[in-house]
Amino acid sequence: MKLDKVGQSALLRLAEIDLEITQIKHEISSAIDSKELEGLRFQLAIVAGELIAARSDVENLEESQKRADDDLHLVESRIARDNERLNQTSSSKDAQGIQSEIASLTRRKNELEDTELGVLAELEQAQKVHKEISERRDQINDSMNTLQAEIQSKVDDLKSRGRKLTADKEIVVGKITADVLAAYELLAKRQIAVGQVVNRSCSACRMGLTASAIDLLAELPDDQIGYCPECQAMMVR
Ligand SMILES: [Zn+2]
Repeated sequence: MKLDKVGQSALLRLAEIDLEITQIKHEISSAIDSKELEGLRFQLAIVAGELIAARSDVENLEESQKRADDDLHLVESRIARDNERLNQTSSSKDAQGIQSEIASLTRRKNELEDTELGVLAELEQAQKVHKEISERRDQINDSMNTLQAEIQSKVDDLKSRGRKLTADKEIVVGKITADVLAAYELLAKRQIAVGQVVNRSCSACRMGLTASAIDLLAELPDDQIGYCPECQAMMVR
């Protein structure tokens, strides 16, 4: 196949551009499939579950505290009412009965106060746990946002390099004849399609070439494309 010197350099550049484009596509997909991001998503899902459980602990204890508080107020108002009755009664028998009721209500009041204090301590602890978990959730969210921004900026960068290469490719392709281009595209599907003799080796397959193979390539007319005897890549000078 024939191709002038300008076309041959263009063909070599085309192979380089296609290789770079393939690498960029690969880098984009590995940036998007970030293992680190996947790990953070996993951690976030676990913390979200922990947060729901901690929230429900707090709510249950708040309810218990409210119930204990209501019971306490009830007993306190009964004690106040009994004290009033005690002041008003003139019967010592009634007074005795009321006093004994006040004594039992006071014991009940003490019990309820102890219960409420216990619930308050538990509530405080549960609120602390809830706060710790939500801080951990916020940290994971922050890390995810930072990482996502990093990935986005890397992908934007790669895409812009890809667009530049695609534009370069259009220019380069314009310098290659249709038949060579068709042969290149067919070959490029399987392997590095274009090579040069570099250090007595084919730059496409890196295999060393015999002296006679190198001589054969060197003896070809300038506008003639050769082939690597090892990988069949198109050889340009
Ligand atoms: Zn080769």
